[in-house]
Amino acid sequence: MFLYRAKYVLPIASPLIEDGVVGVEGDRIAAVGRRADFNEPMTDLGERVLLPGFVNAHCHLDYTNMAGKLPFKGSFADWIADMVVMKRKWWTSDYAASAKAGLAALVQSGTTTVCDIAASPSNLDMVANAPVRVLSCLELIDVAGKAAAEKFWDRCAGLSPHAPFTASEELYRNVHSFCRQRGKIFTTHIAESNEEAAMFERAEGPLYELLAVLGRSPEDCGRGSSVAWLDGCGVLEGMLAIHANCLSDDDAARLARARAAVVHCPSSHRFYSHPPFPFDRLRAAGVPVCLGSDSAASGTTLDMRAEMREFLAAFSSVRPAEALAMATMTAAKALNQPGLTGILTAGSRADMIAVPVAGAAREAAEAVIAGSETVSWVMVDGKVAHNEL
Ligand SMILES: [Zn+2]
Repeated sequence: MFLYRAKYVLPIASPLIEDGVVGVEGDRIAAVGRRADFNEPMTDLGERVLLPGFVNAHCHLDYTNMAGKLPFKGSFADWIADMVVMKRKWWTSDYAASAKAGLAALVQSGTTTVCDIAASPSNLDMVANAPVRVLSCLELIDVAGKAAAEKFWDRCAGLSPHAPFTASEELYRNVHSFCRQRGKIFTTHIAESNEEAAMFERAEGPLYELLAVLGRSPEDCGRGSSVAWLDGCGVLEGMLAIHANCLSDDDAARLARARAAVVHCPSSHRFYSHPPFPFDRLRAAGVPVCLGSDSAASGTTLDMRAEMREFLAAFSSVRPAEALAMATMTAAKALNQPGLTGILTAGSRADMIAVPVAGAAREAAEAVIAGSETVSWVMVDGKVAHNEL
């Protein structure tokens, strides 16, 4: 067993340990305790807090190098149209370079697991050998043709019909039953914008018009929220709902009944100037909320510390420790990895980061979130993925 000592060990699922030690055997954590409980030689990480690596519950690695290239001009539909034009200009090699840049940004900012929406199967092999754990969810769109073939589905950790305006009911049903049968992540963009709400609830607005041009049937529009539409399709159960910014009155209860979780992407939310995220309503309904970065095209950074800072600035009642749990333990549960990552406990994967901390124990979570420098020590699956110590 290899032992790692730090000023503080922050297991997330249990109280902080001063002068703590984590023992690693192979790819797993074998022990968590106080320095005084261990006699063997150990690596001293010094005046740092040792905690689980961040779990980014929503990202598009393929689009990392689009950062700053797609300004938001006030219309979500226009932004999607601009994105489609840019995607057509990119080669497979552009997407590969972009995903590589994204992986580097993740490891440097302390993310050890990411749920990545893969726009095409072309990067699946590359990300499978990445220094961080990539849970690839193949994006599926059938509004203007066939979705990616089923032969790719089994290779992925999950599947992601893009959104209710670009994926059909038939596709949602097929993907949902496939994911439920195989224990895969089922995740989709939902209730993201006012324009999506206008399309589904009132059959109007720029997104409704854009999709009409693309030939999407309007017969499911004007009947209720997009969450209600997915509920009617029978596919809410176990869903990881991306965004959920614009919910109708009954939607939080619908998501709770279906045991769905929500991933909130604070900097992307600000980028589009969406209406306030209904965190209090979701929390009151008992819907787990975790955090993600979204793509750098709309979020500009993949740094989960920046996402937590943004979130805490918007919700003053939330404590730093709660935000940290949303970016580790809660996200791991939402990604079908409960107890496997996002916490430090015997039996979980050895996914850890060490971050400098000067202050008292009660300030440790705050110190982690306040950091913006490269995370100097990162371990994934028991292997040191980054070390500047
Ligand atoms: Zn997204």
